[in-house]
Amino acid sequence: MSEYAFYLAPSDPYCLPDEEGRAKFLALFRTVSPLPNGNGDYDCRAYERPTPIHAGAAFEALLCPQCHGRVVLFDEDGDTPHSAWWKAALAGPRDATVELPCCGGSVRLVDIRFDAPGGFARFAVGALEPGFSDFWVDGGDNFGSLTDEALKRFEEIVGCPVLQIWEV
Ligand SMILES: [Zn+2]
Repeated sequence: MSEYAFYLAPSDPYCLPDEEGRAKFLALFRTVSPLPNGNGDYDCRAYERPTPIHAGAAFEALLCPQCHGRVVLFDEDGDTPHSAWWKAALAGPRDATVELPCCGGSVRLVDIRFDAPGGFARFAVGALEPGFSDFWVDGGDNFGSLTDEALKRFEEIVGCPVLQIWEV
């Protein structure tokens, strides 16, 4: 059985809304994704520090914020040599500046985004097997996206753009 989860997270890696903001965000998420999965569970996460929210088995590479290159971590043979570099970077402080293997550019660790889409966040809301509604492009589909209008409503709550992350 295939399982998919869909998460929204602020693009600002340090953004953690207060309790009221988190409740508003979850309430809106329930509207755009009604009745997810058999248990009806939603997942509301808050972290002490920016934490990678990634696509699970579909997470393959890092995207360099400077040269826009792809740093592949996992391929069909398993871990690539960059994987050890990434693990070491994750073990260090979150406010570190790291040198990316693609171009040697120095970037904040927390500004690195992932492919399939993901990134660092202190807050994320998601649902396993999300439900669809009119707030989705073309009425919704696995690996689809929310409409610009729906995203804007989430962005107003957190005060920054919002990442859409599908996890498999
Ligand atoms: Zn680069």
